[in-house]
Amino acid sequence: MEKLRTVRGVHDLLPDALHKHKKVIKAGLNVSSKYCYSEIEIPIFEFSEVFKKPLGNSSDIVTKENYIFKDRSDDELMLRPEGTSGVVRAFLNAGLVQDIPQRFSYFGPMFRYERPQKGRLRQFKQFGVECIGISNSMADIEVISLGYEFLNKLNIIDKISLKINSLGDADSRLNYTKALIDYLNDYKSQLSKDSLKRLSENPLRILDSKNSVDQKILINAPNVLDYLNERSKERFENVCEGLDILKIKYEIDKSLVRGLDYYCHTAFEFITDELGSQGTVLAGGRYDGLSKMLGGVEVAGVGWAAGVERLALMVQGEYINSPDIVLMAQTEVYNHLLLPIMNKLINEGFRVEIIYTGNISKKFKRANKINASFVVLLGEEEVAKKVIKLRNMMLGSEQLIDLNQGIKVIRKTLQN
Ligand code: ATP
Ligand code: MG
Repeated sequence: MEKLRTVRGVHDLLPDALHKHKKVIKAGLNVSSKYCYSEIEIPIFEFSEVFKKPLGNSSDIVTKENYIFKDRSDDELMLRPEGTSGVVRAFLNAGLVQDIPQRFSYFGPMFRYERPQKGRLRQFKQFGVECIGISNSMADIEVISLGYEFLNKLNIIDKISLKINSLGDADSRLNYTKALIDYLNDYKSQLSKDSLKRLSENPLRILDSKNSVDQKILINAPNVLDYLNERSKERFENVCEGLDILKIKYEIDKSLVRGLDYYCHTAFEFITDELGSQGTVLAGGRYDGLSKMLGGVEVAGVGWAAGVERLALMVQGEYINSPDIVLMAQTEVYNHLLLPIMNKLINEGFRVEIIYTGNISKKFKRANKINASFVVLLGEEEVAKKVIKLRNMMLGSEQLIDLNQGIKVIRKTLQN
């Protein structure tokens, strides 16, 4: 029979890989809780407008990468491609506008119909944080610092650099967009098809283009930082100053834009060159316009999301779940007697596995293979004398011993 496959870009996570993912998420939760961010869980699918409205009809996520479907009530739903829109929607629905600021962390699967590559999947996980209700630039510094400490906790900060930029407020952004269009209009015939389309729909996204001809054209494009009004410029300087005080190194990158319509002011990315072209491991920015787009009042917000798969490729750590003790019986008739022993040992805090079948030499081979530290064996003699045979697998020594005494021996050995 033909094997049933998983969908392209959608992977199983076997224990080894899952262990690394959990390590990443645990570090994220740990660090963010220290910054007093509280974990929130939002739905994996929503009415598609939750994403369509804020992400804009020209974004890749909405036009090319979406998983949209109709359910049996004919409602149009979308598998979430990102977390921010859902978190802000949840914040608005819960009436938390009255109680700002709110700081949230979240993690879970996101879905985008992309061309799968290493570090680029169709179902992938993000860990993210959102700081909602603070328009002051201090909040931008706070979330960048949180991201930095998160990567530091994962012991990979040395392999990562921070890029930041500012898009300024709505006025600055508008002025810059005009200048960019003016400049690019002269190169219309050379621009890639995608960029040409964006020129009328979402020109800022062109800065993000991976096309080499586009990139050449962009070298001399106007610099967004030259178009910031005084207020926006000062704000950006404040962010940079905060990072200097924290001794967080950064590089200003004029081509860094968050393509989505609701972003303003600070944009940042933590990037590595260890993962080929999928080098952005954490990205974020300020999204003061988002709440209004979702039908709420204006509420400031800033946050980031990190790709768990990409980070998991960078973290070290082997998954080990070998038993402290393997239980086996000389013959299968004694298997039942192993069950209460197993429960007792588990309640004592040990990791225990029973090997049920096979002859004794096969069972020992298996115990060796799974790296058990001890074997407890029950045979005719042990049952008659109401003891166990305890074998120290590291030393190869064996003794007949009372179970409670045996527990003491095991504990003492494992502690050393
Ligand atoms: P990219 O430029 O790599 O497509 P993006 O700008 O689309 O990234 P964001 O929407 O900012 O990504 O998502 C934040 C982070 O989530 C990314 O920096 C990346 O680490 C991760 N991420 C995004 N898309 C994917 C994907 N398809 N597979 C795995 N991780 C992803
Ligand atoms: Mg993308």
